[in-house]
Order: sequence, then structure tokens, then C-alpha cells
Amino acid sequence: MPMGTDVRHTVVIGAGLAGLAAARVLADSFEAVTVIERDALPSTSVPRAGVPQGRHVHGLLAMGAEVFEGYFPGLRAELEQAGAPVWDWGEGLCAVLPHGTPPPTPMGMPIQTFSHPLLEHVLRQRVTALEPVTLRDGLTVTGLRTAGPGKVSGVLVRDSEGEDAIVADLVVDASGRSSHLPQWLAAFGLPTPRTLTVDAQVGYASRTYACPDGQSRPPWMGVLQPLRAPDFHKGCYAIPGWTGVASRGLTWRVPLQRARKRAGCRPGVTAWGDAGDRVGQRRWPLYATCMFTSGSS
Ligand SMILES: Cc1cc2nc3c(=O)[nH]c(=O)nc-3n(C[C@H](O)[C@H](O)[C@H](O)COP(=O)(O)OP(=O)(O)OC[C@H]3O[C@@H](n4cnc5c(N)ncnc54)[C@H](O)[C@@H]3O)c2cc1C
Repeated sequence: MPMGTDVRHTVVIGAGLAGLAAARVLADSFEAVTVIERDALPSTSVPRAGVPQGRHVHGLLAMGAEVFEGYFPGLRAELEQAGAPVWDWGEGLCAVLPHGTPPPTPMGMPIQTFSHPLLEHVLRQRVTALEPVTLRDGLTVTGLRTAGPGKVSGVLVRDSEGEDAIVADLVVDASGRSSHLPQWLAAFGLPTPRTLTVDAQVGYASRTYACPDGQSRPPWMGVLQPLRAPDFHKGCYAIPGWTGVASRGLTWRVPLQRARKRAGCRPGVTAWGDAGDRVGQRRWPLYATCMFTSGSS
């Protein structure tokens, strides 16, 4: 699996949303962009092991949708065709607030709801259609390759056939919350990034519901009951759009820890998405940077 040394080549670690967005942007400037993903990637929009949060409900902020649409023209329409509804936030959301529920009022802010795997699937197809981009799945990055002190010159990889190195002018770490970038940098004697821990004591679980046959849908598209310290310890958020099938109804409340880690930039390497701002060392994933910043890093 050797790669040439003279081409303007970027390696992106991880084919999650941040990795795909990074590849899309870098394809404008680099002759070759190789996205390396340790999972064997599915050909449909299903959750996968490397992105466990993909099973949880996700909502993309309106600004995030605009950013993605800018890089992937026609994305909204494509998602809609796949079953992702577009609705007005003020009109379609039933907000259960401490002093009551505001009446539905159009806000002129359209949002689109869909599953994380659906967005990833559509972006994956778009990105792999780009001429400079090669996606290699089933391949794990195990470390950085260096060319002299402090200069990253590629990555070390491993698959079922063995180990190798891939040379690159730039390495983008988009490996999410399991990023090993701090350890990899430390292995070269580079300073480890400063860590800031913010313990929000919030976690959640998701569950998918479908309307029983013969029953009409509720008059809302989504429900939001926000947490509000110190009195409201339970909240919920329910939106439609699991892989095109209307699903609504999620509850969550598991006290957990949130931590945030910022990986610094070094010559030849940078971090995008959750790899740059990541969370939670515990068993259950918590909040993360969000899909919007994955797209706009
Ligand atoms: C419970 C939960 C709910 C959330 N809800 C929302 C929401 O409503 N709205 C929102 O915008 N965001 C939400 N987020 C955040 C959002 O899921 C993430 O910010 C976003 O998916 C991060 O994308 P990413 O590409 O940075 O990382 P990931 O999606 O984690 O992708 C990282 C990829 O890198 C691969 N990888 C890892 N290590 C290696 C390696 N060594 N070699 C090769 N490949 C590797 C992994 O297999 C994976 O494919 C939520 C997060 C959680 C945990």
C-alpha cells in the first residue's frame, strides 16, 4: 500500500461526518485525498460500530444545514427524497416549558430531521464520487509518521494483511472521540494538549417509536422538554426521521460526565470534528462537538 512522496497528498483519519467534510474541502486544493476508516463501511444508511452515537437521535442546526448545503449542493433535496422531512421549527415543535407550551407559530426557520447514518451515507456517496478522493475502509491508523523533529509526514496503518506507512503532506485527524492524537504527538516528545474538563452531569438514551397502524400522527413534528437546572432533571427530545421512517419519542436521563479536550495543531497535522473537541472518558458517549462543527471545522 505505498503511496508516492511527491504528490500533494492529504490523509484524513476517519470517515465520519468530520472526515467526509474535510475530504470534500481538501479535494479542492490537494491532488489526492485518502480517507482512512477502520470500520468496514456499509453500503446503506445503517449505524456502525465506529460511530456509536449514530444510534442516538440527531438534529442538525439550521446553520449547519446551510454549511453542508454549500459544500454539497442539492443535499437537502437528496435527504428529503430519502424520507427526511423539512418542517418549520416554530410551527412543528411542541415545546414543554416550565410555564406552559407556546402555541405553534411559524418562525420561518426550516429544519430537516434525519438519522446520523443517513446523513453519513449520503455524504459518503458524494465524497467518494470526487475525483481526488480515495476511501480506504477496514484500515486502522496506528500512529504518525515523521520526517524530522516536529514534522508529521504521514501515518502508520494496519489491516488484516499487516502494517505499512502512507506518506502525506498533511494529516487531518477526524477520528472522533477515540482520537489518539495527543498520545501520538507525545510519542514524538511534543507537548500534550491542554485539557479542560466540564462536568455537565448529563447523559441520555434514545429509543425509536413508530405510530401504530391505523393511528393518525400527532399534530406536532417534534417535542422538546428541556432540562433546567436546578429543578428539572429530566428532559426529552423527539424528532422524526430515522432513516426515512417517521420515528418519534425519546427519553433520556443518565447522570454522566462531560469532558472536553482540545488537540493542538502541529506542522503537518490538524484535528477536525470530535477529534478536536471530544468528550467523556466513560462507557457511554455524551455530548460532542456536533455535526455542524464537524462540517464547518
Ligand atoms: C449521544 C449523542 C448525541 C448527539 N446528538 C447530536 C445532535 O443532535 N446534533 C448534532 O449536531 N450533533 C450531535 N452529536 C454530536 C455528533 O454525533 C458528533 O459531533 C459528530 O458525529 C462527530 O463526527 P466526527 O466525524 O468528528 O466523529 P465520528 O462520527 O466519531 O467519526 C470518527 C470516525 O473515525 C473512525 N476512526 C477512529 N479511529 C480511527 C483510526 N485509528 N483509524 C481509522 N479510522 C478511525 C471511526 O471508526 C469513525 O468512523 C451527538 C453526540 C452524541 C454522543
